[in-house]
Amino acid sequence: MNIQEITAKSILRKQKKIDSWFVSRYGMNLYRGCSHNCIYCDGRDQKYNVEGEFGKDIEIKSNAIEIFRRELDPSRKRKPFNSGFILVGGGVCDSYEPVEKKFKLTLQALELLEEFNHPIHMLTKSVLIERDIELIKTINQRSRAIVSMSFSSVDEKISSIVEPTVPPPSARLKTLEKFKNEGISCGMFLMPVIPFLTDTPEQIEASVKVAKETGLDFIVFSGMTLKHGQQKDYFINAIKDHYPELVEKYNSLYPPSEWGHPKAVYQDKISKLFYGIASKYKMPVRIPAKVYSDILSENDLVTVMLEQIDYCSKMRNENSPYGYAAYSISKLDKPLRLMHKELKNLKGIGSFTEKIILEILETGKSSLYEKLIYYK
Ligand code: SF4
Repeated sequence: MNIQEITAKSILRKQKKIDSWFVSRYGMNLYRGCSHNCIYCDGRDQKYNVEGEFGKDIEIKSNAIEIFRRELDPSRKRKPFNSGFILVGGGVCDSYEPVEKKFKLTLQALELLEEFNHPIHMLTKSVLIERDIELIKTINQRSRAIVSMSFSSVDEKISSIVEPTVPPPSARLKTLEKFKNEGISCGMFLMPVIPFLTDTPEQIEASVKVAKETGLDFIVFSGMTLKHGQQKDYFINAIKDHYPELVEKYNSLYPPSEWGHPKAVYQDKISKLFYGIASKYKMPVRIPAKVYSDILSENDLVTVMLEQIDYCSKMRNENSPYGYAAYSISKLDKPLRLMHKELKNLKGIGSFTEKIILEILETGKSSLYEKLIYYK
């Protein structure tokens, strides 16, 4: 591994709107490049401009903590922070990849997040997160924490090939169990599920079952994207070494494209297969609102809940105007409670959606949401 220290101009990345998958308003990367070197990693795509070889050349943002303190300090901000979670992890690094042992940037960032009382969503594949369990517990008690781990499956053998330096799925599950036992909301991001390797009904069911048995609060599914260029080239080369018979199948499933989506028919089939299995185990397929309904602004809470209703409705083959409605609300700069009479003028909002919004504003809940998320 080659390590290079660099200076960064900023750490926090503000999202255009709240993200209903991660419930985050901000993202951050303290490193660039990731020596976990998962063969499917999207961070390898050229659009992220990570210098050198993604799995070997790791850049350390040596001034990260100084900048992060400045960004978090409310006395230095002209506009107040949005009240959503900060996603620590994902993107072009894993916050607990091996260099974290020495450089401790994630640990220092968490100390600042504790000091400034921010809710956090930790997403990692590394059991090194256990080092910070006490700190994350304190943040959870003061301002809320969610701990998630990503898996492509719970198959140890396949994991050792596609995620060569990541702790095995069984170790990741034990880590989640420890955080869960501390009263922290925990979940599995089953992503990416890899076509022809981890997408069988048996593989998906094994993941959902173990998530349920571990007492996780949610399991979020996504298929794999393979963006044309560096990401796809690396993946195909690695597949040639281990599963040469699959190369043609991947080339046919993933036509060259900037976004790297597989053919739509496959995407739809696999998503619904997952949803059917999750329903059988009554596992929420999104982070449930009860984890954050008291933290988010009302507009963000309604946006997230409507997007989650939209996802579940589509998985059940039902028509859904809720995605449009959520988008319209995410664009508002006025609190919804001041707009009761104007709601129906917004795109995607008819009388039924209006009722759902009013119910959320009044109670922080929605009976349709509860029915879909908890399969009542
Ligand atoms: S752990 Fe995450 S960031 Fe690191 S290589 Fe794997 S997918 Fe990429």
